[in-house]
Amino acid sequence: MSGRLYGVGLGPGDPELVTVKTARLIGEADVIAYHAARHGRSIARSIALPYMREGQIEELLQYPLTVETTDHPCGYQGALDDFYVECAARLAAHLDAGRTVVVLSEGDPLFYGSYMHMHKRLAHRYPTEVVPGVTSVSAAAAVLGRPLVERDEVLTVLPGTLPGEVLAERLRATDSAAVLKLGRTFEKVRDAFAEAGRLEDAWYVERATMGAERVAPLKEVDPDGVPYFSLALLASPAERTFVGGAPVEEQRGEVVVVGLGPAGRPWLTPEAQDALAVATDIVGYGPYVDRVAPNPRQERHRTDNRVEAERARHALELARSGRRVAVVSSGDPGVFAMASAVLEASADYPDVPVRVVPGLTAAQAVASRVGAPLGHDFCVLSLSDLLKPWEVVAARISAAAMADLVLAIYNPASRRRTWQVAAARDLLLEHRLPETPVVIGRDVGGSGESVTVTTLAELDPDHVDMRCLLIVGSSTTQVTPQGTVFTPRRYP
Ligand code: SAH
Repeated sequence: MSGRLYGVGLGPGDPELVTVKTARLIGEADVIAYHAARHGRSIARSIALPYMREGQIEELLQYPLTVETTDHPCGYQGALDDFYVECAARLAAHLDAGRTVVVLSEGDPLFYGSYMHMHKRLAHRYPTEVVPGVTSVSAAAAVLGRPLVERDEVLTVLPGTLPGEVLAERLRATDSAAVLKLGRTFEKVRDAFAEAGRLEDAWYVERATMGAERVAPLKEVDPDGVPYFSLALLASPAERTFVGGAPVEEQRGEVVVVGLGPAGRPWLTPEAQDALAVATDIVGYGPYVDRVAPNPRQERHRTDNRVEAERARHALELARSGRRVAVVSSGDPGVFAMASAVLEASADYPDVPVRVVPGLTAAQAVASRVGAPLGHDFCVLSLSDLLKPWEVVAARISAAAMADLVLAIYNPASRRRTWQVAAARDLLLEHRLPETPVVIGRDVGGSGESVTVTTLAELDPDHVDMRCLLIVGSSTTQVTPQGTVFTPRRYP
């Protein structure tokens, strides 16, 4: 069986910028091959060295010439072609013998890399894989600390070996540019930047990430000292608007009303996580604020749970001053929670954008624990008479009971509201059978979780508190012998 050929990118020079995969392949290879100039040592080999093993076969693929004249009958290109054929034959001999051959490339193997000459000659004959690497262009932008391209800008990559007029024309037409292969071409490249009117914005980066790196404005560079491992960079034009000390664009404030889900991180949506992560301020009822993962960059405003309107105005005030405010609610913020309060108050803050990020609501969490009691038509109501009169609550319970809807009852009780559960039960019993299934879910998903399946007749109000949600079945809701509760899709 023949061996495998790998063309691996080593990145720009820093051995830590070698990918984990390339490092592994170098360590496992039987043969390490690399190109080198006639008189130079191999930079690729020195980057790979920390990952090489004792006793590996090395194939030095030394260029017969660089820019010297040649007596080859087909000139410079003819001499190179012969060289590549000979290199490919040397590697093929190892591959035929079943050895794994790794060909090293600085940067990325398919980005001006010598490896591609081997690839073209061998990839159709042997199992071959190319492992990409960090290019010198990325490295140079990173060293400069300047954005390369943003939004719909165009990056042009140019070899410095092109004629001066071609370089100037391309530089004039692009937003950002990287000109590689400097060395002897340096003066021509610099003049092309000047001709294109871009010299003022151009940077010179030498041996990016290699240790002896150097960065300078292109116009200040002495042409005599320019090595091959250098490039000229025209960074994103947009960055010029802030590099140089101008203030970063003022951030626009907003209020995002975020649903945290009924409990814990598994029920926090990725969208909600993102909204929390970018916030500068977290506003909400104390125990809910405490559920947000701590970040010292953020300010936390913990409030009592009965001052919704005040809390909403506070959030809107903060946002008006440019803060990004996350108002947190448990469950879904639109279900008996902060979203309505914020939207109501926002009439006085027309300039402040408000968004709502949904969450899993408690009824869904409780229902899922016992099966599918909400499988058919159901209604959601709050038993609290703090924000609406009890007559309204009672009328709605009776109406829902008459309509044979399943009920998901939020806020069934609190320390001060203790009689409503019994009153609701008695109203329901006027229209429902005593054996109607009732689910009591307490702190579902949290550390105090308990879920009880009982019946309407046996519903004990003493077992219900503010951390509970009740689900009252309809005439078709069933409880299996295993205790699973579901309401069929079909209605008789
Ligand atoms: N916005 C929330 C509801 C807030 S009202 C949501 O969409 O879930 C508060 C009521 O929600 C509580 O009294 C209780 O009835 C219910 N609740 C919230 N979290 C719960 C949980 N983990 N388990 C059971 N009920 C819960």
